[in-house]
Amino acid sequence: MSTHKIAVLAGDGIGPEVMKEARKVLDAIASKFQVSFEFDEQLVGGAGIDGAGKALPEATLKACEAADAILFGSVGGPKWENLPPNEQPERGALLPLRKHFGLFANLRPSVCFPSLTHASPVKNELIEGGFNVLCVRELTGGMYFGEPKFLGEKDGERTAIDTMIYRESEIERIAHVAFLAAQGRDKRVTSIDKANVLQNGILWRETVEKVAKGYPDVTLDHLYVDNAAMQLIRRPNDFDVVLAENLFGDILSDEMAMIAGSLGMLASASLGASKDGGLYFGMYEPSGGSAPDIAGQGIANPIAQILSTAMLLRYSLGLEEAATCIDDAVKAVIDEGLRTGDLFTGEEGTTKMNTTEMGDAIVAKI
Ligand code: NAD
Repeated sequence: MSTHKIAVLAGDGIGPEVMKEARKVLDAIASKFQVSFEFDEQLVGGAGIDGAGKALPEATLKACEAADAILFGSVGGPKWENLPPNEQPERGALLPLRKHFGLFANLRPSVCFPSLTHASPVKNELIEGGFNVLCVRELTGGMYFGEPKFLGEKDGERTAIDTMIYRESEIERIAHVAFLAAQGRDKRVTSIDKANVLQNGILWRETVEKVAKGYPDVTLDHLYVDNAAMQLIRRPNDFDVVLAENLFGDILSDEMAMIAGSLGMLASASLGASKDGGLYFGMYEPSGGSAPDIAGQGIANPIAQILSTAMLLRYSLGLEEAATCIDDAVKAVIDEGLRTGDLFTGEEGTTKMNTTEMGDAIVAKI
């Protein structure tokens, strides 16, 4: 039986509450699929600051280095908001982790199940049958990291400079992630750029087209980013995988999350070094934060954390069947009308449940 090492960083707020449910799900997967998981639980974020003096303690980083993948909860909360910015939970833990492991690919599936379309702010007839788009965003290049950066006096007035820079190899590796992901979905990639204005856009488009030749089963089309922002609202269900550089992906992935509607359902993956067989080292976490407003009440929706776990199995461990089993179990409980408070509207045929009950219901389906 194969053993997979997972570093478990539950963090703050609702993090530990939803992580408990994700662990139960992994235990159920282990017995169903004859695999074994070795969990190394470590402090991170505010819990790291309180317990070990910093947001990303040495022991936590070591555990992550020794693991096949990182399962991350969420960090932050009012208690730590007055610390110097670089010592705060998010900046002190998330950014260093991304940097240390070179997590260059951010995958955010925005999924809205057919029975939850009322939670979406877009016209429901546009997402009849649900919404399911995967945003693949480049995470370590582009304008956010390009040098030089400058804010100061120049030619007698305040001036700001940010540099957008991409190397061909950076575009190639993120494009491969998008095409591989599309092969496991509806086999369509929409690549986003601004090739009509930016040199970066021209290189982006040419490079993505070159990579596409290696994936003849996947259809590729291109959209300028401004048009993409409109088309996502106008015809959301025409998209399968959306591939974008860092800044454009940051904005569009939030737009897609909004179309899906409910933060408690949205998982994410940040992938780093590639391993054999199209697998990656990665960090998996809910798209939302630590939700201090509901922390400690046992009412958070554990589904985002549980779906992050499915992504971990899929992208870092190659356990596709087990990952699909989790996705299906989540879909089944939603179809049965089971809802945590964030999704519950009192609609006929639905039942309100707490975090533990939702976790148990998903485990029962597995
Ligand atoms: P948030 O995502 O924590 O919460 C926004 C709203 O969504 C809240 O009303 C919350 O109750 C709700 N929500 C989020 N996840 C939910 C879930 N699983 N079930 C039910 N409801 C859920 O964003 P925020 O309030 O802006 O930030 C709170 C803290 O989280 C801050 O300290 C912020 O810095 C941190 N944060 C951390 C991460 C991360 O760890 N990756 C990401 C975003 C924000």
